Amino acid sequence: MVITRSAWISIYGDFMKKKNLQLIAQFLDKHPDDFGRFLEEENGIAADESDFIIKEFMEMVDGMEDRACRVCGCTDHDCSQCVEKTGEPCHWVEEDLCSACVDEGE
Ligand SMILES: [Zn+2]
Ligand SMILES: [Zn+2]
Repeated sequence: MVITRSAWISIYGDFMKKKNLQLIAQFLDKHPDDFGRFLEEENGIAADESDFIIKEFMEMVDGMEDRACRVCGCTDHDCSQCVEKTGEPCHWVEEDLCSACVDEGE
């Protein structure tokens, strides 16, 4: 699969806004060199710097994956149950407790 320049631009936009992290991580995992090249061509970011940026990003996503609510088990990537329950996405109240469950967790 070849990722077009315009696709990389939208991926990079999400990357900067820290949106769709899981999806971006999948792209970067499969095409780290392509993204590095894109960063260099579009933004003048040197290869060793982009390696670092990608590594940092992947570590951040990895760290987030571990985070789940101790009551409902929701994560940053899958909060649909909280949206159903409260009508809005939750946020973290404690390290492992989301705002949708804060009353039940006590
Ligand atoms: Zn929860
Ligand atoms: Zn949630």
